[in-house]
This record gives sequence, structure tokens and C-alpha cells, in this order.
Amino acid sequence: MGQPHESLYLVLPYLPLFELLAMAQVCRSFKETLHDDILPWLNIVVDENHRKSRVTDEILMKITSKSMGRLTSLVLINCVKITDYGLQNVIANNPGINKLHVPHCTALTPEGIIKAVTTLNQHNVTLRTLKINGIINITKEHLQTLHSLLQSNNCSSIDVGICPKCDEVRMVYDCPLETCERKRTTGSCKGCKFCVLRCEECRKCVEFGDEDNEAACEDTLCEDCWIRLPKCSFCNKPYCNKHTNKQCVVPGSSGFVCDVCHSKIDEI
Ligand SMILES: [Zn+2]
Ligand SMILES: [Zn+2]
Ligand SMILES: [Zn+2]
Ligand SMILES: [Zn+2]
Ligand SMILES: [Zn+2]
Repeated sequence: MGQPHESLYLVLPYLPLFELLAMAQVCRSFKETLHDDILPWLNIVVDENHRKSRVTDEILMKITSKSMGRLTSLVLINCVKITDYGLQNVIANNPGINKLHVPHCTALTPEGIIKAVTTLNQHNVTLRTLKINGIINITKEHLQTLHSLLQSNNCSSIDVGICPKCDEVRMVYDCPLETCERKRTTGSCKGCKFCVLRCEECRKCVEFGDEDNEAACEDTLCEDCWIRLPKCSFCNKPYCNKHTNKQCVVPGSSGFVCDVCHSKIDEI
């Protein structure tokens, strides 16, 4: 097999980890490239959102060791087997990490995150972004500690905040629409997903109890989006764009039937 095309080298740093490893199994010269080149290993992304968790502390250490201590960003999504020990090991060996995203890595603790950020601080790096949404038991005190650790550089950001409604540490959203009536009059549509209902489509706030605009997928929709979206020929409920794959085609018609109505029709 010939040398991999040059553009492949440019793409390498952006490929998610498992795609890289899968490609390495397919092509030998590619495998050699991966082995010799540290560039692909400087930004590690492990996304276990839609698959069974495989990455353990040990595997993470192996992967990150390929960067030879030059790792700049570590993104672990839903990696539920990674512990504080594993994270700390990577952080201690890679003093240049400036992006640390560990959302829903539920085996990590707030203390472990604080320790990691403290270590990075001691290395004098500027942690530009920290994502810790879904880490269990983060308190306001933990968040304050993290903010003070990151304060030395004002260009860094943390994905979670304190919800003005329930006072818990969560992702806090604001209404995207300046025209929102509630925002203009009471300024009260900022909050976490438990406190403020939002339209699945446009993220505008939707009042609790204002649920006439029901979607076939049971997601929340605002009135405007509900009107705009195509609807089931039977129950007249729309799907949000994320769930259009649930539409069942009606032969000889341009419309669709939702999966609920479709299963009812099947029973008849
Ligand atoms: Zn809240
Ligand atoms: Zn909407
Ligand atoms: Zn609003
Ligand atoms: Zn229907
Ligand atoms: Zn939906």
C-alpha cells in the first residue's frame, strides 16, 4: 500500500480517538504514521456518549503517553470509568493542557477536578475552558474554588454556573430571543433545565402549564415552532427536528404518521 495522502496528516489531529485507532488497523503505513507522529495525540477526544464505556484509567494513560507530555487538550465525554486517579495522572504528566472537558465522567469527583486544576495552575498554564457538567455533587463552594483558581486568567470559562432559580450548580441557559416577553418584563427566563422549560427547536423559554403545543416526541415546543413544523396526518402533532426520523411514511401521500399513531393503526 502507498503512502497515505498528505491531507490525511492535516486531518489527523481532528479525528476522534477510536476512528484513529480503527484506521490504524486498516492501513499499515497509516499505523506507522500514527506511531511516529505525535501531532494526532496532542488533542485527545474520547466520546463515549453513544457506546459502551471502554476507556479505563489505564487505557487513558496509554493513549496520552503518546503525546510525550505535550498534550494540549483533553476531552472526555461520558467516560464513566475514568477516576480522579487517572485524570490526575494525565494532568501531572502533561503540564500544557489548556482545555479540559470532562462532562458526565461520573466517576470523577469535584475534589478530583479541583486537584487537577490546582496542578495545572502550579504549571502556570492558562486553562481556557473547563467543562464539568454532569459531575456529581458539585456545590457552590466547589465552584467558587474553581473560579478563584481560574481567576488569574480572565479568558477562561466554566460551563456550569449557579441557577438563579434553584441555587444549584448546573448548566444555566438564557433566552436567546431579545424579543421574549418574559425576559423584557420580568427578566426571569434565565435558569437551569429543571427550572425553565425551553423549546427544543429555538431554545426560547416556554411557560410551565403552557403545554398545548405538544410534540409527537413529547419534547417541548414553543407556539411558533409548533405551528411551523410538519404534523402527523392523524393526531396533528409535529416532531422536533431531532426526531424527524420517527416519521412513518404514508404510501401515496406527502405527509407522515407519528410512531404512536402508526402503532395504533397496526393494531387495527
Ligand atoms: Zn434551576
Ligand atoms: Zn421554538
Ligand atoms: Zn424567555
Ligand atoms: Zn400521530
Ligand atoms: Zn423531539
